[in-house]
Amino acid sequence: MYDDTPDLATGTPHDEARRQLQICNACRYCEGYCSAFPAITRLRAFADGDITQIANLCHNCCGCYYACQYTEPHEFALNLPQALAQVRTQSWQDYAWPAPLARLFHRHAYATVAATLLGIAALFLLIQAVPAPASGTGFYAVLSHSAMIALFAPLFLLPLAALALGLRRYWRDVGGARPTLAQWRDALAQAAQMRNLKGGHGEGCNFEEGARFTPARRMAHHAVMYGFLLCFASTSTGTILHYGFDMPAPYSLWSLPKLFGITGGLLLTAGCVWMLALKARAEAHLSDPETTAADTAFVGLLGMVAASGLALYALGQTVAMPALLALHLGAVASFFLLTPYTKMAHGFFRLAALLKDAQARGV
Ligand code: SF4
Ligand code: SF4
Repeated sequence: MYDDTPDLATGTPHDEARRQLQICNACRYCEGYCSAFPAITRLRAFADGDITQIANLCHNCCGCYYACQYTEPHEFALNLPQALAQVRTQSWQDYAWPAPLARLFHRHAYATVAATLLGIAALFLLIQAVPAPASGTGFYAVLSHSAMIALFAPLFLLPLAALALGLRRYWRDVGGARPTLAQWRDALAQAAQMRNLKGGHGEGCNFEEGARFTPARRMAHHAVMYGFLLCFASTSTGTILHYGFDMPAPYSLWSLPKLFGITGGLLLTAGCVWMLALKARAEAHLSDPETTAADTAFVGLLGMVAASGLALYALGQTVAMPALLALHLGAVASFFLLTPYTKMAHGFFRLAALLKDAQARGV
């Protein structure tokens, strides 16, 4: 269903993006910049679902803004990076379940800070209230393995279920079909390389240096994504060793959980610090100003998860261990709970957009 008669009076983010996309579709100067432009030029008119899909393909590199001859003071007042950012963040809020939680955490940095502090306080209280068995060693001398599983299994699985619900709504609205193996391969390869963050010419983004292209944002994203995946691999291999080989923690420095955990923690911490530095230099008027502070708070939480995990590795044999364990587990608990309602959700929606794009390209 296509709607090519926008009602600009309502002033919704979709209406404003539709106005700008129609100008871009006539101009097409930025055709080679990113995967959003081929998706734009494949269409004659833009339904709300099309705009949501294009917005989730855009990664706010700002290249089209600096190339555009129709930005202010031209009467067209083009600012496609911002128009698409506003549609994108609205889509994450509207598709989330429950949506009011997403509106709260996407728009208010204090909500993320408060949830993090609450998570840490709850873990401190839990450690006091649930004494670990005398036979426990290492971390399990502070909080038993069964208490950790009882707490973190639902904290991990329930937000994932909420996220899956949101992605299902997205998929229905953008008209996605059942994906094939080839389409999954294509989308995962693009996500793994973050190909679109290179810019159409391979020089990178205009995100933090104005009109100058730099690869910094792609590299910082890579550090965050691969750091996160290595941390996840650390937890997964620890679980396999525990249940599959009856080898409970603590593990030696040369074990898989430690090797994955330390390299992942270092990469993730460095990536988050780098992202915060890039965000501080980015131009606010080229993204969604309503979500900038909350996004920054979320990157801070992610960096705290990584840094507290590293501190736990480094000081796990000292008297600081129980306090560091509560700090780290509290930050992890908050991070899991906030995943569907914060910037973390964008990775999943981006993958869904790449998958839909593979379908549109006939992969
Ligand atoms: S952003 Fe400007 S230059 Fe680029 S396609 Fe759109 S109207 Fe043309
Ligand atoms: S901001 Fe970058 S990614 Fe987004 S539409 Fe413009 S060129 Fe493409």
